[in-house]
Amino acid sequence: MSAGTLGAVAAFAGARWGRRPNDRAALEALQQKRLARFLADVLPRAPFYRDRPCTLAELPIVDKATTLARFAEFNTVGVTLDRALEVALAAERSRDFAPTLPGGVTVGLSSGTSGTRGVFLVSDAERARWAGVMLARLLTTASLRRIAGWGPPLRIAFFLRANSNLYATLGSRRIAFAFHDLLDPLSAHLARLNACPPDVVAAPPTVLRLLADAASTGALTIAPRQVVSVAEVLEADDAAAVAAAWDVPVQQVYQATEGFLGATCAHGRIHLNEDLLHIEPEWIADGATTPTRFHPIVTDFTRTTQVVARYRLDDVLRVADADCPCGAPTRSLASIEGRADDVLWRPGPDGRPLAIFPDVVRRAMALVGGLRDYRLEQHGGEWRVRVQPLEADLAVSVRRELTAMTARLGAVPPLVQVGAWEDTPLTGKRRRIRCLAR
Ligand SMILES: [Zn+2]
Repeated sequence: MSAGTLGAVAAFAGARWGRRPNDRAALEALQQKRLARFLADVLPRAPFYRDRPCTLAELPIVDKATTLARFAEFNTVGVTLDRALEVALAAERSRDFAPTLPGGVTVGLSSGTSGTRGVFLVSDAERARWAGVMLARLLTTASLRRIAGWGPPLRIAFFLRANSNLYATLGSRRIAFAFHDLLDPLSAHLARLNACPPDVVAAPPTVLRLLADAASTGALTIAPRQVVSVAEVLEADDAAAVAAAWDVPVQQVYQATEGFLGATCAHGRIHLNEDLLHIEPEWIADGATTPTRFHPIVTDFTRTTQVVARYRLDDVLRVADADCPCGAPTRSLASIEGRADDVLWRPGPDGRPLAIFPDVVRRAMALVGGLRDYRLEQHGGEWRVRVQPLEADLAVSVRRELTAMTARLGAVPPLVQVGAWEDTPLTGKRRRIRCLAR
């Protein structure tokens, strides 16, 4: 057994069977202990933090722009941004993800929904731990039995844009792991899946939806027991299409290059991984007396190569309004509402800009019957909606629902333009609701 596999197994066992705090106080005590160790032992090894105070509250809040601009100061292995990009781009061009930096450090690249590319360094040990925790959080008991040695190995099909290196860690004798490059055409994926049907399919929701559609026409004949949505926000209609195709609930991983932030529990709710991360909510005022939406400020006390300390994400998270029936003390979410620029804006009753959150827009669009898919872009006062199929009564209905929704909020209704659908490539992140100009 390699050191990597050993690390994955250890992390797996810890996450699956280790003593987990069963109330909020115990969880916070555990966090504080891990946080103290991180602040004392890891943080000073990154030049950016060398001469800074050592309590979390006193550390500056950083974001993607800061950490990219001063990249070498945020890692503990002295790698510059140029060097990291060189390795990552070479791997992406060749689709050979084996080359790593000295010491087994891998470069992770994210396309970034807001346009800026994210670059992250991960060591072998971190990768192994990540894999172990991920499996522990997601695999059902039936799947685990297969890994433990009952029946044939567990087959996992993983769809990924780039950097399979991160995921290749998962491969072993008991797990047969198939990497599907999102740059390959759909027909190639269907042929491979039919030839070697996976037990677990993990893919961005865009791809899951295409696979579910292929299953409904008979072009895809697999029968996965677990379906996991990764990399993008899972929307309710995609989840429903997948559940209908294979009769399994879609599990969701909330993950960014910045880390493994959360995953769904047995009750289908996303819980933040607060035993591995400290997450401070930056509450967003939305007119309600108690705000329910926040930007997460993440401190990851499991990472030692690239330091993630008070790192503010653009994602908008909405907290669940009651404790989860699963009993876990970690914070659970009602939804991940994507990136901040998925919020649309209209003048409100007082003339000031009023935020219209994506889930509100989605609910309005859900009222439009017969809609297969849509994409909405705000261009100032104009909302351009591409719909599939484009039919006259459907366009009327889209206009009516969006106008009614904005009016209900007390906002000035936008000018709604409805146009024909355009396909996006598999590699393109689908963002249904985007604000290009306020
Ligand atoms: Zn739960």
